[in-house]
Amino acid sequence: MNVPSVTRASGPRPDANRASIVTNVATILSPFLVGFSAVTWLWTQNRAEFGVGVIARPLIVVAAIALAFLVVFRLLAGRLGAASLVTSLGLVAILGYGTIVDVMTALTGRRSVGAMAAVRLVDIVILGVAIVVILVLARRGRSFDRTARFVGFVAAVVIVLGVVRPLGSVAEMSLGLDGAGAGLVDQGGADAAPEDLALPRVVPEIAPDDAAHPDVYYVILDGYGRADALATHYGFDNGPFLAELQQRGFVVADRSTSNYPYTYLSLASSLNARYLTDEIARGEPYRAYLSLIRSGSVPERFRDRGYRFDLIRSPWAGTSGSPLADELLGPSPPLDDEFEAALLDQSLFRGLVPQPSVADYHLAAFDALEAPSTDPRATFTFSHIVAPHPPYVLDRDGNVVLDTAALRGQWGGPDNERGYLEQLRFVNARLLEAIDRILAASTTRPIIVLQGDHGTWSSRYEVGIAHQVVEAERMSNLNAYLVPDEVAALLYPEITPVNTFRAIDRGLFGEPVLLLPDERWYGDGGPPSNLERYVPTD
Ligand SMILES: [Zn+2]
Repeated sequence: MNVPSVTRASGPRPDANRASIVTNVATILSPFLVGFSAVTWLWTQNRAEFGVGVIARPLIVVAAIALAFLVVFRLLAGRLGAASLVTSLGLVAILGYGTIVDVMTALTGRRSVGAMAAVRLVDIVILGVAIVVILVLARRGRSFDRTARFVGFVAAVVIVLGVVRPLGSVAEMSLGLDGAGAGLVDQGGADAAPEDLALPRVVPEIAPDDAAHPDVYYVILDGYGRADALATHYGFDNGPFLAELQQRGFVVADRSTSNYPYTYLSLASSLNARYLTDEIARGEPYRAYLSLIRSGSVPERFRDRGYRFDLIRSPWAGTSGSPLADELLGPSPPLDDEFEAALLDQSLFRGLVPQPSVADYHLAAFDALEAPSTDPRATFTFSHIVAPHPPYVLDRDGNVVLDTAALRGQWGGPDNERGYLEQLRFVNARLLEAIDRILAASTTRPIIVLQGDHGTWSSRYEVGIAHQVVEAERMSNLNAYLVPDEVAALLYPEITPVNTFRAIDRGLFGEPVLLLPDERWYGDGGPPSNLERYVPTD
């Protein structure tokens, strides 16, 4: 074996050439790794919600930006190392802005528009100065190769740490609603009628012009409480609104409770007309719930029957889209992909690309509800309106009092009752208008279901009220039905959302489907690991 010479006197040797090719490739790759690490890191923090496919397009965009920067700075600097380093710094400044702001917000406990703008300015200035200094030094002969490669190495470590996750995930489900997280769900609900779930029911297809099959509107009003709970906890008399509904033929289930205390559990259950089982909770739970909501068996069966399925989108991941929908109604965000929107929100461009506000979604939902369909087919319309649930963005007259695109906002606090009731009053008034327009435009009387996915959390929730009392408030939901007599005959005051479409399938379509025992599962805390079954004795 030849021992390689340590002298540098001789001319270029193959080994040295190979080594320099390898280091050059590493130098070129570094900024790509830096850009990729920002994308993969965000994904690993939200992997429960997003499949790995969502990162493909962002990776391509980041690679294109990195390549463009690299070419330009290579020309300006005259050296590869400097160009690589400057490109990496540029990508950190662009993609890391949101993280800096988030860390600052976490440290100071508040977020102001001024502070965010200041961080943006400082970010740009520091980057500009760094670019100028590095380019000047590079032109004077300074090599930045090692530094550039070191930055790439750090990025590679970030990517590996994110994928391997030796420390677990710190911020999983960060894009969720209601502290949505993993839920532990027992078999209890599924045990209720296993044979009923095991046998696939035949779906009777209906003729396109079948006048006996009405349009169906399933309207979830997030966090809309039952009348007696609103009276007890909010001092609000919802009787006049319910009387208006009854005048229009609605049946109000005035002892209704929700089956689950959180949006994602409740909708995963009601849109599939069954309780959630342990098998769902075992995988990657939150994503499992989301796909149960986005591809629920209830809309799927309506489609199988020949119905058209319109989804009125909400700003929340579960109901922002559906692979089953014939049409998505409501606002169209410029970035339709929620992961890409989150990535953009982490970047220097945060807030610069206008997203529809939460109020925009609410207002557009009512407009879409009452807009007549031109399709001759019967239509199943599902609308999840994240109101009167916080954030409290509208007053009773529909004026925007909080202009935010962030679906955040906590229950409780000194202003909770006032904000909740303002939004509730708006929902009531606007809903009656929409219902009247729907009724006026319908030749066959439609089915309309108005339902809270759960009840409220008043400010009393915060002050250590007994579990049982909080449970009663949280699970007491609005549940009102405009249905044909055959369905109305199956309703009763305590009916829960899991049975909504069982009653409709049986009453309207004559399907041999059983109603399930009405149970409610309550656990508090973000991920309700303490879900307990409550039987309807009270
Ligand atoms: Zn909810």
